[in-house]
Amino acid sequence: MALAGDLLTRVRELNCARPIDAPPALTGGHSGPTVCIARVYHGSLVDGPGRRSVVQFQGCPIRCPGCYVPETHALTGGMTVPIQSVVCDLLSPAGEPRDGVTVLGGEPFGQVEPLLELLTELKARGVHVTVYTGYTVEALASRSRTAFRAALDLIDLLIDGPYVEAQSDRAGQWRGSRNQRLIEHPGQLVAHESQRRQPVRLLAEEAQRWMK
Ligand code: SF4
Repeated sequence: MALAGDLLTRVRELNCARPIDAPPALTGGHSGPTVCIARVYHGSLVDGPGRRSVVQFQGCPIRCPGCYVPETHALTGGMTVPIQSVVCDLLSPAGEPRDGVTVLGGEPFGQVEPLLELLTELKARGVHVTVYTGYTVEALASRSRTAFRAALDLIDLLIDGPYVEAQSDRAGQWRGSRNQRLIEHPGQLVAHESQRRQPVRLLAEEAQRWMK
C-alpha cells in the first residue's frame, strides 16, 4: 500500500460471496409464531449448493473458539419476527435466482420449534433446505423432544459439528472445518439407524463416504 496506494482504488472488505452488511428487510403484516434471527441475505455462494438465500438464527450456546459470527451468540440479541415474515423475505423476488434456502446461526436447533415451523413452510413450497448446526447428527437424534426428529426429517442437507479452528485449513466446500460432515437427508439416516439398531455414528460415517 505504501508503494502503490495512490494507484489503487479505495480498500474495501470482501467476504467470499457472503454480504458483510445486509440488514434484513422483513416483509411486514404477518403474525403467528416467531423466531429470533440475526439477519436474512441473498445470493450466497458459500452456504450450500448453488446460490442460496440465507437466514441466520440468533443465539448459540456452543461458543466455538474462533467462530466467524460471534455477534450471533447472545441469546438476547437479534430481532424477534414472525416466521411467515422470514419465509416471505427468504423467497422474495429480490433474492432470485436461488437454488435453495440455508438456515445457519447462531445455532438453529437452539430454537427447535421455530426451526421446525420454518422448515415445514419451506418444504411445503418445494424449497431445497440446507441447515448448519454446531451439534452432531448423533446428538440431535438422541434428543427426546419430537421436534428434533421432525426437523431432521425435513432437511435436505445437514452440515453438522462445531467449528474447530485447528481443522479449518482445506475444510472443503461449504464447511468451516474438516470435522464437519455433509449429510444428505439426515432424517432418513436416523430412521435407517433405528431399523438396523446401529449407532447413528456409523451411518453418518457411511454417509460421508457416499459424499466423497
Ligand atoms: S456452533 Fe456455529 S455459531 Fe455457534 S459458536 Fe460454533 S461456529 Fe459459531
